[in-house]
Amino acid sequence: MALGAAQSVAMQGLSAIPVTIEAATGRGLPTTQLVGKADISVRESVQRLRAAFTHINIPWPRSRITLSLSPADVPKTGAHYDLAIAVAILNAQRISADNTLREAHTAFLGEVGLDGHIVPVTGVLPMVLALRQKGIKRIYVPAANYAEASVVPDIDVAPINHLQDLLQHTPGEQPVPAQTASDNQHGSPAPDFCDIRGQRQAIETALIAAAGGHHLLMLGPPGSGKSMIAARIPSILPRLNFEESLEVTSIHSILGELNPAAPLMTEAPFVAPHPRITAAALLGGGSGFAKPGAISRAHRGVLFLDECTEIKSSTLDLLRTPLQEKEIRLSRSQGTVTYPAHFQLVLAGNSCPCGAPTVAECRCSSSVKERYRQKISGPLLDRIDIRMRLEPPRMGLLSTNSSVDSGTLRGIVATARKRAQKRWGRSVTNAAVDEKTLRKVPLQAQALEPTYPLLRAGMLSARGLQRTIRLAWTIADLNNQQAPGSAEIAEALELRVSLEDL
Ligand SMILES: [Zn+2]
Repeated sequence: MALGAAQSVAMQGLSAIPVTIEAATGRGLPTTQLVGKADISVRESVQRLRAAFTHINIPWPRSRITLSLSPADVPKTGAHYDLAIAVAILNAQRISADNTLREAHTAFLGEVGLDGHIVPVTGVLPMVLALRQKGIKRIYVPAANYAEASVVPDIDVAPINHLQDLLQHTPGEQPVPAQTASDNQHGSPAPDFCDIRGQRQAIETALIAAAGGHHLLMLGPPGSGKSMIAARIPSILPRLNFEESLEVTSIHSILGELNPAAPLMTEAPFVAPHPRITAAALLGGGSGFAKPGAISRAHRGVLFLDECTEIKSSTLDLLRTPLQEKEIRLSRSQGTVTYPAHFQLVLAGNSCPCGAPTVAECRCSSSVKERYRQKISGPLLDRIDIRMRLEPPRMGLLSTNSSVDSGTLRGIVATARKRAQKRWGRSVTNAAVDEKTLRKVPLQAQALEPTYPLLRAGMLSARGLQRTIRLAWTIADLNNQQAPGSAEIAEALELRVSLEDL
């Protein structure tokens, strides 16, 4: 009996478990047996590899082959095991002269095409990160995934184009153009606030939302610029630091959504699903292990739900748990996975069914209006710190640019966030800081005076008061003030205006 082995990895959401593939050839009829909880996509691997070996004249064992994927209790799915299985079979036959293929610190990722070329796979970044953590020193990846794998420091990445390359020589490192910070992840110039005309106040409100990480609701008639403003919020959020970039890029890597020329995502993502989005597409789902949904694609960025009154309220309600926990647990047939989902929620909708440009021109009866607004009321609305009404810009203002550009606003956001982080003692926004930490810096009783009449009248809940205080801190941070006073509390209450008053 001859034995060969190679290392690969099994993914469960964003976490990974190293998998050892052993190939044993021995006496018996030339059949292949695969053991170790492999699903159909892995079982098909043997068929693909046999075709590829034949195509390029690599001998396929003429005896019985047993392939074992261990640990045996870990479910294995995906075509990325092809390359490691191929190497294990080559090693069992002592075919390749390349000793590195037999090293225990080397791992292999890649699908093998029927002609032997190596097909790119999804999830390379989280797989490489996990393998590095487990002590793997060198990893072979499809050449098309090389740029993505290379963003991980302290691991030797070898690109491979074709199965034949394994036999001929050790593939060398290919020079890849370094990704610069100015590379846009979507290949087109990022939208900038300087494109928006005559919406000064709305832009200032978006600035407050960005500075404190507050969720935002915008109501207004069509053409008032709601989507334009929402799409520009990521341009004023801080750039992701390296650890955040790896985390965000890993999620998009699993979904195969990376730009091959600039795979590392360094800007906060913007995700804007259709109003008729299903619960599975919003939260994550699919068979086997669940795939990330829109809320995880928007992790560390903005989830924009336009025409939010068209979204089923049962679907909107599903956002409550991830908004609270900043992650989502998804259970499917093969197991439970957790994906991060810390996003800033931006909702937009028409202020009423008739879509009149101003309140004065609205012809909706009060009961129609109330029914309409009930769609976004309740516990979800309670978590949205800022609600604003947008009017279409007046004619005189249309010709002028907003005169603020995203770069300037991003600087203001960064300064305000630094103040907050210094105060709370860690990297957290005012919207997301935990209650215990929030209470450690109490406000003067005088500052809270504007809230007393509302509390007495039952128009402000305990949670509402707490959300108001968070928002007032952001306003104080933007004004470079030590702490919010009654003026900032009053301004926060105005931004948290109830729906009936919008
Ligand atoms: Zn109306």
